[in-house]
Amino acid sequence: MNEEVGKGPRPRWDPCEVLELPHPVGAYIDGRWVLPRTNETFRVEDPADLCEIAVVTAADDTVVEYAVESAQTAFRSKWASISPRARGQVLAGIAIEIRRQAEVLSYLETMDTGKPVSQARSDVETSAQYFDYYAGAADKITGDTLPEAEELVAYSVREPYGVVAHITPWNSPMSQMCRGVAACLAVGNTAVVKPSELAPLSTLVMARLFVQCGLPPGVCNVVPGLGPTTGQAVVSHPLVRHVTFTGSIATGQEVLRAAATNITPCTLELGGKSPTIVMADANLRAAAHAGAMAVVRNSGQSCMATTRMLVERPVLEEFVAHLGAEVAGLTMGHGLDDPDLGPLVSAGQRLRVLEYLRSAERAGARVAARSVKVTLPLGHFVEAAVLVDVTSDMPVAREEIFGPVQAVLCFDSLEEAVTLANDSEYGLSAGVFTTSLSAAHYLAKRLEAGQVHVNRYQVGGVALPFGGYKQSGIGREKGLEALHHYTQLKTVVVAVDGG
Ligand code: NDP
Repeated sequence: MNEEVGKGPRPRWDPCEVLELPHPVGAYIDGRWVLPRTNETFRVEDPADLCEIAVVTAADDTVVEYAVESAQTAFRSKWASISPRARGQVLAGIAIEIRRQAEVLSYLETMDTGKPVSQARSDVETSAQYFDYYAGAADKITGDTLPEAEELVAYSVREPYGVVAHITPWNSPMSQMCRGVAACLAVGNTAVVKPSELAPLSTLVMARLFVQCGLPPGVCNVVPGLGPTTGQAVVSHPLVRHVTFTGSIATGQEVLRAAATNITPCTLELGGKSPTIVMADANLRAAAHAGAMAVVRNSGQSCMATTRMLVERPVLEEFVAHLGAEVAGLTMGHGLDDPDLGPLVSAGQRLRVLEYLRSAERAGARVAARSVKVTLPLGHFVEAAVLVDVTSDMPVAREEIFGPVQAVLCFDSLEEAVTLANDSEYGLSAGVFTTSLSAAHYLAKRLEAGQVHVNRYQVGGVALPFGGYKQSGIGREKGLEALHHYTQLKTVVVAVDGG
């Protein structure tokens, strides 16, 4: 941790200047910047010091129309008809270029979101890995031959949808964009992306980088703007044939309603309140480290953060001591100084987290440990906290806080652990710490979650399918599984006796 954080002015890193972005920043469509006629703009600020880092225009209906039409033209005229191998080569080139520009992209992501730069570097590397992975997959998507009567030949082929809308949140905008877009493009779709207005810059810069790497203009367009206007216009456009949405449950419901008008299929990656069960025989230091990392990654603003630690009663005290020691040592500051924790993304997010803490204390929970107090005068900082004496009916145990708050509960039996873990509308991810092979498999079977992590949380390369049970979502991103959601299946039956 840099000792000087909070003690004086820091040199400014101006993303618009370094990345040669126009002022204001427009939509990126057909390989060029496009400004709406209305010229409605919004400020993007550095959440660590509230300085303006860019002014961005909000795409209006005309701009959205242009973006979707351009993606449709690119789909029909270029992208779907080039060979899968050639598509893969373009995607592989993008991975190389992302790594070549990794440092500047990491700085940009830090300024946009507030996250520590080492976490941003990891996001940039993950973004490159998505392109590597789906570059390799592009020419390996096959259908089946299907059993039929002697005089028939039947087979299936997987075909792209056409224009796919991607609506992304602000916590890891670059890697979330790449997660969806790399898979979507690999199978021949084109994309229109609507990033969050809180952190839209890296998505716009990536779209330009793609074109510089040889992606035909129009194959990936980006329309910044507000969710209820720009986002809705994209989702409900009749030429959009599939929607991939990452965000909250409430907005996911809005997206489903809008998509229903044209019966547009949706992949939904929504929130989580992921439990981790810590058995008495577990490596408690490892389990406590997982609990601490849940509040460190993006300052807890992570959908799969395990923010409900369910601990077997005999080891509760020892577990809380390990967890408290880790959290108490966490540093906080401007993301470019690479502390453990950066700021939250917005004033609203900060107030929300503080209110959860207050309500938990009012209800009888106790703060067992806090991270070091931040000395920066501005910014949306909240110190990380470990809450004990939490009961499963408290909002901090049931709702997604999306901040650096860890809630510790305890249980007396395996059955009670399973009941507590599954007592949630969410089902994104879950963890288990135990040295018992049978307990690990028993719990993996019983937990209602799209991913179960045993003895390390979180692990998750680009090859591992990711998505939620229950209200945490529909469909899967990542891995080859994602390609099923970006293709539609056509069955062909041929009468070989001439009809
Ligand atoms: P929101 O649901 O508020 O927003 C997500 C995106 O949807 C933003 O781009 C937003 O735009 C846009 N949006 C808002 N309203 C509409 C609308 N009516 N129609 C279309 N688009 C709309 O989520 P947050 O950005 O606050 O992100 C936090 C949430 O995302 C958490 O619940 C978290 O768990 C979840 N998440 C899930 C992940 C997963 O993979 N499962 C990964 C990361 C986050 P704008 O910001 O401009 O309003």
